[in-house]
Amino acid sequence: MPEVDLSLCVGCGLCSRVCPQGAISIIGGKAYIDQSRCIKCLECMRTCPRGAIKVKTEKVLSLEELKNTCQILDEELREIFEKLDKLEVRQKR
Ligand code: SF4
Ligand code: SF4
Repeated sequence: MPEVDLSLCVGCGLCSRVCPQGAISIIGGKAYIDQSRCIKCLECMRTCPRGAIKVKTEKVLSLEELKNTCQILDEELREIFEKLDKLEVRQKR
């Protein structure tokens, strides 16, 4: 289940706009997820610019959640490697 780290959330509302279930509300400047409506697509987690939405790791993930989480990690790793490659090219100049 995705959960909001309230200490990181700045209430920008981006997660709320991408949620296909309308499960996220901004209350008092922070995002709250109605878990009963959540379908665990993790779009909110991908969208949050602050990294404030996380999937709790202590619970067993469903195959779908695991697939989505791996996909996100794969994308993030790719970005990191691309940045490292660019840095390496700059340093060689
Ligand atoms: S996108 Fe992130 S920072 Fe913005 S409201 Fe949602 S959880 Fe908070
Ligand atoms: S995981 Fe998907 S359905 Fe659940 S709150 Fe995030 S965007 Fe909405």
